[in-house]
Formats: sequence, C-alpha cells, structure tokens
Amino acid sequence: MKLLITGGCGFIGSHVVRQALAIGHDVTNLDKLTYAGNPANLSGVNTSKYRFVQGDIADAGVVDPLVAEADAVINLAAETHVDRSIDSADAFLRTNVIGVHVLCEVIKASGRAVRLLQVSTDEVYGSIDSGAFSEGDRFSPSSPYSAAKAGGELMAFSYHTTHGLDVVSTRGANTYGPNQFPEKLIPFAVTELLEGRKIPMYGDGTQVRDWLHVNDHARAILCVLENGKPGEAYNVPGENERQNIEVIREILKMMGLDESRIEKVKDRPGHDRRYAVDGAKLHDLGYGPVETLAKGLVETVAWYQKYESWWRPLKEASKDFFARHYGKLGRT
Ligand code: NAD
Repeated sequence: MKLLITGGCGFIGSHVVRQALAIGHDVTNLDKLTYAGNPANLSGVNTSKYRFVQGDIADAGVVDPLVAEADAVINLAAETHVDRSIDSADAFLRTNVIGVHVLCEVIKASGRAVRLLQVSTDEVYGSIDSGAFSEGDRFSPSSPYSAAKAGGELMAFSYHTTHGLDVVSTRGANTYGPNQFPEKLIPFAVTELLEGRKIPMYGDGTQVRDWLHVNDHARAILCVLENGKPGEAYNVPGENERQNIEVIREILKMMGLDESRIEKVKDRPGHDRRYAVDGAKLHDLGYGPVETLAKGLVETVAWYQKYESWWRPLKEASKDFFARHYGKLGRT
C-alpha cells in the first residue's frame, strides 16, 4: 500500500514507519517537527520507498496532494504530553481535533476510498478502579490531552457515520521503548538519574499503568490497518500492569541506585488512578503483545544509557518547561 503516515518523526510514529517499510509498504511521512518531532528517530531509513514532507496536518493545502496519492492514512500526529496540556491546551485542540477534521475533510473531498486509521489512546476512557474498559464503554477523559484525543476520534468516526469514510481507530496503552521523548515517565526517570538528579514522583506513585512496548504498539496499528472493520475501534493493551512506583523501583535497581533518589512532588491535577483496556477484540484480528515489561525495560534503560547524544539536546531544549512545571509541584 501507499501509506501517508503523519507524526512519523515522533516516538511511536518512527517505529510504525520502520515496520511499514519492512513489510513492503511505500511511506510518505508528514510531520510538522514540533519540539517532539525528531528526524534522528528515522536515521538510517534510506530507501526510495520513503519520503519525508514537513508540514501540518491542520493545513489542507499540505494534506490534499498527499492524500491524493495515498491508499491509507495512519494519523499519529498529535500533541501528546498531559503535563503540557495542563499548562496550555491550545495546540492540543488545533492538532488533535482540528487536524483530524482536516484529514477527514480532505479524504472526503478526494472522493477516493482512502482508509483513515486514527491512533487514539486508552486515556479517552478515563480511570477505572478494577476490570478493564471495552470498546463500547463511554468516554470520560480527565485531561485536556485525553479530551482532545477523544474529540479527534469522535470527529473521525462521525465522518464514517455521516459521510461513509472508512475509519478505524486504535486505543493504545501507555507506550515505552527507544526514541520516546524524555518528558514521559520512563525516559524522564532514566535521564534524570543519568544527569545526577532525583526522579520527581507524582503523589504516592500508586497510579497504575498498563505498559505497552512500542514494537507491539506499532504491530497492533499495522494489524488494524490491514484487518480492522470499517467504523470499529480496537483497544491495544500491554498486559503489563504496574504501579508507577514499581516501575521507578525497577529502574533504580537496574541502575544500581536506591530510593533516596526519589523525590515526591504534588500529584498532577486530575491524575487518573488506573488505566486498563480489554484486548479481546484486537486478539480476534490475530494480534497479541509479545514483549514483557521485565525484558523491555532492561533494553529501554540500556538504550537511554547508550544514546545520551540523542536525549541530551532534547532535554536541554525543554529545560525551562521542566523547571517551571516541576518547580510548581514543589520540586526542590
Ligand atoms: P510524540 O509526541 O512522540 O510525537 C508526535 C509527533 O507528531 C511528532 O513527531 C510531532 O512533530 C508530530 N506533530 C505534532 N503536531 C503535528 C501537526 N500538527 N502536524 C504534523 N505533525 C505533527 O507522540 P507519540 O508518543 O509517538 O504518540 C503518537 C500517537 O500515539 C499520538 O496520537 C498519541 O496520542 C498516541 N498514543 C500515544 C501513547 C503513548 O504512551 N506515547 C499511547 C497511546 C496513544
């Protein structure tokens, strides 16, 4: 297939681009290169089947000629950091909602049968104390990030219902692995320790997340692209539930450090206690996660230890955000 992948210079997008090329697809990667977009994530990708275009998914003039050549669009372009959405949500609405609307409008106007795979998140359901959400459960997002993701997904499905567009979505769990911007829990913790600082931990650290390796997440997206039924959403669990503090303790152990390197800070406002999604529907399409957190975390910590030249400039460029954000939460 000729794929238009948006947000391909980001964390998950870069792994989707690599996997899509490996199984023979042609890929055009449309990425705005925000602070989170990093062409280095695709270093070594050098094939006539790959093309990079810098641009905004919310700009119809940019999207239109790319959709005209595509068989399918995988939309990963998004503002993705919950903490930044609490600071200011404008960019989240523009990309995560308006951007999806523009993609839908352009696909509709093309009059061609172009599948749209909207990459959504398990965070659209909000928090659950026990059990797991199924795809039919109601959305109850807690943060401006997850509310904007919910809005974008609902917009995409409205174009399926109203205009007959071929739309599918994935609702992936907390994803980790190489190339993740060092503001998210695992890479932030590892790189703070490597820089000789403490890990700021929200509240008591008992929030539960289900960890999904980026290789599994990318495989799930490509599986739904090929096998998903029009108009359907698919949960993508990681099947590795842990409290944040358990993950932090594991990282400390791997790096030969003790718990004196944890600094408790005020909890994030609206912080969801637990995310969990049921993956039975995706399982029926032939997908199951293969990575365990035990193995994936060791490899991920080793990757950040090895590729300091990758993460250090990114942290440097965001140091004002980190200082302001964690300063407000009482980091000393
Ligand atoms: P990321 O922040 O690492 O990358 C986002 C990418 O999108 C960057 O390359 C950025 O430059 C690009 N981008 C942002 N705005 C754009 C715009 N207007 N036009 C074109 N490109 C733009 O994000 P990620 O963690 O790789 O997440 C990718 C997708 O997966 C997102 O839609 C996110 O909501 C979803 N998701 C992420 C997780 C997770 O744990 N990381 C879990 C479930 C779902």
